[in-house]
Amino acid sequence: MVEITRRDLIKKGGKGILACLAFGAGLGLPNFSDATALRPSRGKLGIKLSPYYAALEGKVIKCTLCPRECEVDVGDRGYCEVRENRAGKYYSLVYGNPCAVQVDPIEKKPLFHVLPGTKSFSIATAGCNFDCKFCQNWEISQARPEETFNFDLPPEQVVKLALRTGCDTIASTYVEPTVFIEYMLDIGRVAKKRGVIKIYHSNGYIQPGPLGDLLGVLGAACIDLKGFTEKYYREVTEGDLKPVLETIKAIHRHGTHLELVNLVVPGKNDDMEDIRRMCQWIKTNVGPDVPLHFSRFYPRYKLKHLPPTPIATLEKARKVALDIGLHYVYIGNVPGHEAENTYCPKCHELLIHRVGYRIVENKLNHGHCFKCGEKIAGIWNKEK
Ligand code: SF4
Repeated sequence: MVEITRRDLIKKGGKGILACLAFGAGLGLPNFSDATALRPSRGKLGIKLSPYYAALEGKVIKCTLCPRECEVDVGDRGYCEVRENRAGKYYSLVYGNPCAVQVDPIEKKPLFHVLPGTKSFSIATAGCNFDCKFCQNWEISQARPEETFNFDLPPEQVVKLALRTGCDTIASTYVEPTVFIEYMLDIGRVAKKRGVIKIYHSNGYIQPGPLGDLLGVLGAACIDLKGFTEKYYREVTEGDLKPVLETIKAIHRHGTHLELVNLVVPGKNDDMEDIRRMCQWIKTNVGPDVPLHFSRFYPRYKLKHLPPTPIATLEKARKVALDIGLHYVYIGNVPGHEAENTYCPKCHELLIHRVGYRIVENKLNHGHCFKCGEKIAGIWNKEK
């Protein structure tokens, strides 16, 4: 049987039947005092000329933003559905028009080694350069911006609202933020001047050039290392593994704080030998101090038929990672599990006690173990 994807339908002109998306896929609006200024309107576009394309013959363009390198005819869009060729020039349609705006605990990103217990102003536009079969936010990630309810939020306004809502960070998250890079870059520039840290939660599927631009404004990155075989990436995400590994290495080389997330999907990427190879790769290429989060899968989107990840599988994966020598290995989406906590890699003392996204106790002493004095990798205060 041939599976018809949502993108196939859009390309066949079937987008009308998909036009019933609610704002932010259920993501909530922060309680702003000037919320009236923040009324989303359906299909609002934010047009901005992209610097990330090359002109080919006959006004065709090649997008140079992500490894997919879409070649796009006049009037068409790339795979992510949010970048369009207009008369031989390539435009982003998602500059300043997020469809999801929310204040989250930073632990939800998940970033466990960045300002624990603080709030992160989180935004996303429509669109994505992957189509993960387990996507939790597919209503917006697989949508065109015409189909979502979008806010009018220029970069300055995002930073202003972040400060007003007491957020120390601004996260681009929920979908793949690479597709709204022009917006992210401008938010990052303003945020840097105002002392707010810019965060990027990404699938890592980006070309080295634009990534270099981003690294100039980012304070921290959380990259999904979704699996460790090309087969898994192709079948489950429609992407490739190799560029993601290059992104992870580049972020680490740059010295930007990095955390990794591996969603363990039963029967798909839970082979312990693959997990062992992945952990060994992490240790060799970015070192043992990069936190790794093994996240529990719940049935969603195109993988509704699979069961949630057994907790025993996550614990086995964590043991593999710890045995290899990774220092900070977490289990996510299992509230109350002891592997939500941060332990000192040297004396094993409990340092940060978490339950879900809540910090119960933080015993770090200026970024060091309060007991043995070991330095703990991370951003523990805003000055660092
Ligand atoms: S960013 Fe979008 S248009 Fe550009 S190559 Fe990637 S999927 Fe294609």
